Amino acid sequence: MTVRVRFAPSPTGMFHVGGARSALQNWIFAKQQGGVFVLRIEDTDAARNRPEWTEGILSALDWIGIARGSYEGPYFQSSYAGEHRAAAQRLYEGGRAYYCDCTREDVQARTGPQQRGYDGFCRDRGLEPGEGRALRFRTPDEGETVVVDLVRGEPTFENKLIEDFVIARGDGSPVFLLANVVDDMSMGITHVIRAEEHLPNTPKQQLLWDALGVKPPIWAHVPVVVNEKRQKLSKRRDKVALEAYRDEGYLADAMRNYLMLLGWAPSGDREIVPWSVIEEEFRLDEVNPSPAFFDEKKLRAFNGDYIRALPMEDFVEACRPWLTGTETIAPPPWQPDEFDPAAFAAVAPLAQTRIAVLSEIVPNVDFLFLADPLIDEAAWAKAMKEGAADLLDAAIVAFEALESWDAESLKATLEAVGAERGLKLGKAQAPVRVAVTGRTVGLPLFESLEVLGRDRTLTRLRAARVRLV
Ligand code: GLU
Repeated sequence: MTVRVRFAPSPTGMFHVGGARSALQNWIFAKQQGGVFVLRIEDTDAARNRPEWTEGILSALDWIGIARGSYEGPYFQSSYAGEHRAAAQRLYEGGRAYYCDCTREDVQARTGPQQRGYDGFCRDRGLEPGEGRALRFRTPDEGETVVVDLVRGEPTFENKLIEDFVIARGDGSPVFLLANVVDDMSMGITHVIRAEEHLPNTPKQQLLWDALGVKPPIWAHVPVVVNEKRQKLSKRRDKVALEAYRDEGYLADAMRNYLMLLGWAPSGDREIVPWSVIEEEFRLDEVNPSPAFFDEKKLRAFNGDYIRALPMEDFVEACRPWLTGTETIAPPPWQPDEFDPAAFAAVAPLAQTRIAVLSEIVPNVDFLFLADPLIDEAAWAKAMKEGAADLLDAAIVAFEALESWDAESLKATLEAVGAERGLKLGKAQAPVRVAVTGRTVGLPLFESLEVLGRDRTLTRLRAARVRLV
C-alpha cells in the first residue's frame, strides 16, 4: 500500500505557522514512507476564502521547501461538490442519515440549555428531503469508536455520546466534516496528520468512513501551538503568519528547523540540525502530545545562529530583498542608485555577526548609502551633551590631519582626543557615532568610518558641529 498523506489548508487568512508545521510533518512522513504528499485547498467556505490566500499558501510552502510541482495537487475542494452531495445522498438512501426540521430553538426548548448537542427528535419521523431540512447522520447507539492515532495512542469515544450531527445543511450543501472525509476517501489518503483541534471531529469522521464502507485512515493529531501564556496561537493576538516571519528576515532553513521542534526533538542534545537529519530522524510516534510553545525569542536566537553560519556570499545574497525592496518588503530609505555594492560587501561581515533577522540589515547600513544620515533625535539628545561640541571640534581637526584613513588610525586618534578630555573611548565615540550614523548603536564605529571615507565622515562631523552652535 502506498502511503498517501495530504495537507488540507483553508485559504481564509495568512498562512499560520502551526499549519506550516503540520505541512512539514506530512511532507517528511511521506518522504520517509516512499509515499505521496497531496495538497488540497479546502475552499468551500466561499464567504471567507480569497484567491490571494491560496497563492500565499502555495508560495509560503514553496519557501519552506515544499516546492510547487513536487507534490500532487493542488486540488480544490470546491471542485468536488458533486461527490460530497452524492455521498450525503448515499448515506440517506442507506438509512444512515435522516432529514430533520428542528431549529436550534426547538431543540433548546425540548432539552434545556444544559444538554449539549441534538436530542434525536427527528430520528424516526421519516421526513422527506425538503427546503430548510438538514440531513443528520444517525450515530450508533452502542459501542465505541476507537481512533488509531500515531501521536495519541487510541483515543476512544462512546458512540452514545456522539450526537446525530449534521452532514448537509438545510440548503442541501454538505458540511466541512463530510466534504473532508469524502475527499480524503477519493484521494486515497492513508494517514491524516493534522492539528489537535480537529480531534473532536475525528470520531464523527471515522463513523462516516465506516458508514461509507471504506477503511478509515490512520490518524495523527499533532499538538496545538501556544504562546507564552499557554493560549492557542491566534491570528488576532499573535504573530502567526509565516509570510510575516519571512518578510522580517527569518531564513527558511531556520524556520523549518524551529517548526519541527514544536513537540519533537532530534537525537542527542541538539536543536539546530541539518534538514537531512530531521528528515531521517523525525518520527510521528515520538511527537509529544502536549501543547507546543512557540517561543519567538528562541526562534530569533535560532535565526541569528543560522545567519552567522551562512557563507559570506550567501549572506550578501540573502540580504538583497531588504536592500532593494520587493512586492512584500518595503524598500530601504535610500534610492537604488545610492547603493554601493562594494561598500556593502566591506561591512557585511560586521553586520552578519550582529543581526538576528535580515531586515535589521537596513538600519545598520543605511548611513553608508544616504546622502545625510537619518538622525534619531533621542539618540542625538543622549549623545550630544555638554562637551560634545568641543570633542567634535577636536575630532575634526585630528581626523583632517590623518595620513592613513583606516580603522586602526581612526581609533587611536579618537582615543587620544578623548583621553585629553578625561573620556574613555566609549564616551568619546558616542557623539561621533550619532553625527555620522544617526544612531547610538550599530556596526563597529571605526570600520564604519573607514568604509564611509574621509570626505563624507568629515562633512557629517562638521554638519553636526554646526547644529550644536
Ligand atoms: N481545512 C482544515 C483546516 O484548515 C483542515 C482539516 C484537516 O486537516 O482535516 O483546518
